[in-house]
Amino acid sequence: MSDQALRTPFAARATAALEDAHLQEALTIATNKFMALRRESFAGFPEGEALRDRARAVKEATLQRLDAYLEQLADSVERLGGHVHWAATGEEAREIILRLCRERGVRTAVKSKSMATEEIELNAALEAAGVTPVETDLGEYIIQLAGEKPSHIIAPAIHKTKGQVADLFSRELGERFPADPEVLTAAARKELRQKFLQADLGITGANFAVAETGTVVLVTNEGNGRMVTSLPRIHVAVMGIEKVIPSMTDLMLFLAILARSATGQKLSVYTTLVRGPRHPGELEGPEEFHLILMDSGRAAQIAGPLREALYCLRCGACLNVCPVYRQIGGHAYGHTYPGPIGILLTAMLKGDRSVKELAHASSLCGACHEVCPVRIDIPRMLVGLRERLYRDRIAPWGERLVFWALGRVLGSPALFRLLVRLGRLAQRPFLRDGRVRSLPFLFGRWTRSRDLPPVAARTFSECWKELGR
Ligand code: SF4
Repeated sequence: MSDQALRTPFAARATAALEDAHLQEALTIATNKFMALRRESFAGFPEGEALRDRARAVKEATLQRLDAYLEQLADSVERLGGHVHWAATGEEAREIILRLCRERGVRTAVKSKSMATEEIELNAALEAAGVTPVETDLGEYIIQLAGEKPSHIIAPAIHKTKGQVADLFSRELGERFPADPEVLTAAARKELRQKFLQADLGITGANFAVAETGTVVLVTNEGNGRMVTSLPRIHVAVMGIEKVIPSMTDLMLFLAILARSATGQKLSVYTTLVRGPRHPGELEGPEEFHLILMDSGRAAQIAGPLREALYCLRCGACLNVCPVYRQIGGHAYGHTYPGPIGILLTAMLKGDRSVKELAHASSLCGACHEVCPVRIDIPRMLVGLRERLYRDRIAPWGERLVFWALGRVLGSPALFRLLVRLGRLAQRPFLRDGRVRSLPFLFGRWTRSRDLPPVAARTFSECWKELGR
């Protein structure tokens, strides 16, 4: 999202999303479908729960020795003939790719879906350097044609209905298309085929990288990832340093839960294992393979409050179940990573200040924690984030005042009892059918879309006292 758009307050972005009928239709259909598929998949997979625990333990153990695994990965990739680049920031990662483009005379780059390259805003940098980036994942292709950003971690065009995609293709490809997914996919395939053959450079992310073998793993449902990694003469993979895993045995474990959590599949249609450049005697593959290991704020969180966010497999399940994401979609969050985990990842990459509004875009219902394949405790970290915003005086003064006052009241039984008595009186004008409705002033935001239960006629402590008597 542009800086200009980010200057619009989050509440205004969310309201605009709520009023967008197309967005509401697209979100409801897609998130309901993803949730149902995930539920069915795990229902028929009793060993899944134990595998989730195991996967979490592997992630935790890997972080304990991340430096050693990264060095092992770098050695393994170089042994296979690949080049490894270390990028401390997103800017450095971008610069490495631009330098390669300059030195190798690259004019066109084909890309497979990669949140890491979204994170570093690679497409804009390539275009500015005279290199044409072409997104080849169908969802990414749609949003590139539309000039937009992804709105979901695994389904970038989730916010578009098939009618909107048909209109977009008709406008951009100069031919009228019906709102038929098969016809639209065929049209995109035809457009992209030639691009694969023209491109000098293929750019991917990495779902995992295996330290022991130097294997970079791509998990996709379209064949585009394979073409991006095998047709152009150079392949560059960009990954966050937390994506390294120790062994191929661990890979099997993660593959068993990743697709199930993301799309309800036992395994995604394509699992591509990249092992360096083309070797003598091989018929296909790039002449050069480059792996960029990007830190960009991750290493600092190994001992930080957002540590668990480094376990994330980017399956998107927490977005699909989040009552906030399901209503407003990804663009309203305003950053590369949306949804509950997106708030934490944004805080990790850009600092707590960048999410001072978003930290409250969660009902803390715990649905994200429940579905996460590696059981990341997102609600706990969001509460910690809110606490830091308060403590570090990043939260607005009004919010800090409310929390300060609340802390005083909850810390003093006498004050609490007094407030309960006052509350009973103050709520009277707003009581209708046993519920508190239409509160005035700032409190009106609470009751605009829901009723509140009234202060009880007798509180638990009052009943307890009476029982004692
Ligand atoms: S936090 Fe968990 S559920 Fe959300 S994207 Fe990451 S792995 Fe998936």
